Amino acid sequence: MQEAKKIAIVGSTGSIGTQALEVIRENPKHFAVEVLVGNSNADLLIQQALEFNPNSVVIADESKYKQVKDVLFDKDIKVFAGNKAVEQIVESENIDVVLASIVGYAGLASTINAIKHKKTIALANKETLVVAGDLVTKLARENAVNIYPVDSEHSAIFQCLAGEWDNKIEKIYLTASGGPFRGKTRKDLENVTREQALKHPNWSMGAKITIDSASLMNKGLEVIEAKWLFNLKPEQIDVIVHPQSIVHSIVQFEDGSMKAQLGLPDMKLPIQYAFSYPARVQNAFKRFDFFNYPQLTFEKPDTQTFTNLALAYEALKKGGNMPCVLNAANEVAVDAFLKDKIKFLQMSELIEKCLHKIEFIQQPDYNQYIECDAETRKLAASLL
Ligand code: NAD
Ligand code: MG
Repeated sequence: MQEAKKIAIVGSTGSIGTQALEVIRENPKHFAVEVLVGNSNADLLIQQALEFNPNSVVIADESKYKQVKDVLFDKDIKVFAGNKAVEQIVESENIDVVLASIVGYAGLASTINAIKHKKTIALANKETLVVAGDLVTKLARENAVNIYPVDSEHSAIFQCLAGEWDNKIEKIYLTASGGPFRGKTRKDLENVTREQALKHPNWSMGAKITIDSASLMNKGLEVIEAKWLFNLKPEQIDVIVHPQSIVHSIVQFEDGSMKAQLGLPDMKLPIQYAFSYPARVQNAFKRFDFFNYPQLTFEKPDTQTFTNLALAYEALKKGGNMPCVLNAANEVAVDAFLKDKIKFLQMSELIEKCLHKIEFIQQPDYNQYIECDAETRKLAASLL
C-alpha cells in the first residue's frame, strides 16, 4: 500500500483549514499532517497540533510564539513564528502537498515559494491567481508543479476535464448561489448590515469570502481564477446563478457536449479530491438526495445591481496589474465594511475608483505586483 500523503495546511485554523483536517481525520490511511500554519488563533492551532502530531507548526503572530511553544516543546513538534517562517516552512523536504488556504493576498508569498520548491499545490487561496496569475502559472510550468483547485466550481471543472485533457473547451459555466441578496435591487441593498451579509444561504465560510459572495465579487475573483487554471479567454467564461448550489459548474466542449459535476454544497469533497487526485477515496460524507431537491434552477446574474462581477470582467479584460488592483481594493473595502466603516454598495464604488486611478502596467514582475498591491491599499484607505 502507498504511504499516506504528507500535507502542509497553510491556514489550518480557518474554514478551509479545519475542513481539510476533517478530511484527514476521516482518511488517516491516505493523508497525514506534516505542517500546520495559522495566523493568531494559538489555542486552536495547539489543539490541532496535539491531535494530528505534525512535524512543524507555524504561528504568523509572533506574540503568540511562547504560548504555542510552551505547550508543544516536549511533543517533538517544531514551532516557528512570523511571516518569514510561514513563507519558508513550505520548503520542508517531507511535504507532498501544500494546501494554500490562507485568505487573501497574504497567501501569495507562501504559495509562490511552495511552487519554487516543486510542491504540489491544492489551491483554495483564489486571490493568489487573481493577483498574479500569469506569474504563478508560469512558475508552475517551469517547475512542473501541478496546481489542483479546491474552490468548488474549479474543482467541478477539473473533475469534468479528467480524461479530456486533449479536448478543447468551448466554454465553461461557473455557477453562483447568488448569495443572501439574490433578487434584491440597489435600493434594497443601500442599508443592508454586516450581519445580513454574513448569512450565506448554502455555505459556511470565512468572513471575507462570505462578504465576497454577497457582493458577487467572489464570482468575479473565480472568473479570473478560472482563466489562469484552465487557460481560457474571458469570453469563454460565463456565470450562471444557481441558487441550490448543487451543480458546481459545467464544461462545454467543442462538440457542444456539456459535462457538469454535482453534489451537496460541502467543501470537504473538493478538498479531498485535490489531495487524492487522480484517485477517488471512499468516504462517509453525506450523499445527495434528489427528492430533497425537486428543482434545480438557473438565472442570469444581475450585474447592474451587483457591479462587482462586471468590474472583475473589466479587470480581467484589461489584464496586467488590473486584477491585482481589483483584489487589493476589494480587500480594503471588505475589511472596512466588516468594521462598519462603509456601506455595502460603497464597496464597489471604492473598487471602481481604484481601478480607474491606479496606473496600468502591462506585464508586471513580482516586485511590481507587491508595489501595486501596497499602492492600491494606500489609495483605497485614503478614499474611505
Ligand atoms: P478563513 O478566514 O476562515 O481562514 C483563513 C486562514 O488563513 C486562517 O487559518 C488564518 O489563520 C490564516 N491566515 C490569515 N492571514 C494569515 C497570515 N497573514 N499569515 C498566516 N496565516 C494567515 O478563510 P477561509 O474561508 O478558510 O478561506 C481561505 C481561502 O480559501 C480564501 O482564499 C477563500 O477565498 C478560499 N475558499 C474558501 C472557501 C470556503 O468554503 N471557506 C471556498 C472556496 C475558496
Ligand atoms: Mg467557489
